[in-house]
Amino acid sequence: MKRFFVDKMSDITELTGEEFEHAKNVLRTSVGEEVVLLDNSGKEYTAVVSAVEKKRMLLNVVRSELGQREAEADVCLLFGYLKNADKNEFIVQKAVELGVKRIGVFSSEFSSAYMNENKLERLNKVAKEATKQCLRSVAPTVVYFDTLEKALAAGAAYENKLFACEFASNSEADLSALQGSTAIVVGSEGGFSRAEAEGAKTLGYKHVSLGKRILRAETAAVALASVVMFSLGEWQ
Ligand code: SAH
Repeated sequence: MKRFFVDKMSDITELTGEEFEHAKNVLRTSVGEEVVLLDNSGKEYTAVVSAVEKKRMLLNVVRSELGQREAEADVCLLFGYLKNADKNEFIVQKAVELGVKRIGVFSSEFSSAYMNENKLERLNKVAKEATKQCLRSVAPTVVYFDTLEKALAAGAAYENKLFACEFASNSEADLSALQGSTAIVVGSEGGFSRAEAEGAKTLGYKHVSLGKRILRAETAAVALASVVMFSLGEWQ
């Protein structure tokens, strides 16, 4: 069934803006069709299209249930903003598919990419599209931190705090036996400075190694998120 995000749910719900355009012009959604509406509450609403107008679609909600596809594991991914927009989008898309609940992008000492509102909006759109595609019911909001310190602070409350450190000789955390909420930090193509890596340690982050080879940032982010999901029991 087609899935659409709406701003506000009510018995007769309105679909407007980009979601409406997409529903009408691309997916050719028509009166009488049953679709699923999402409002980021975790619920999924089955609704029937009752009218298709010029600027909006009206839908009657017939039932609602809790989405069944959200991860049990509470995982947050913080990654260094990359120069190549496609790679940032790739990381966001894969993180959503893997079940990551919070996504943060940060600037750091060796990351020179420049973030702006449009780019952040675009990343949030990618997160929403991925959410629908993989049948999740909650789209993570992608947030931007202009310093690594702020990003690390956003991960403070997580039980496991993992810092992918390309110059760590071994892992300080056992990735095969994780339990509890987990924040993952991965650097940009420029990597981390020694001072940044040490600073993360003082905030309770454990350096983890992803093996002998240096992975590209997007490989590292997806690989580490996958391993963490597996370790937390999500792949059963
Ligand atoms: N420019 C850096 C590499 C950056 S790789 C250099 O030349 O050394 C981008 C990010 O991916 C790193 O900051 C780290 O978070 C992660 N990463 C890549 N390979 C890794 C590895 N073998 N172990 C741990 N983290 C790794």
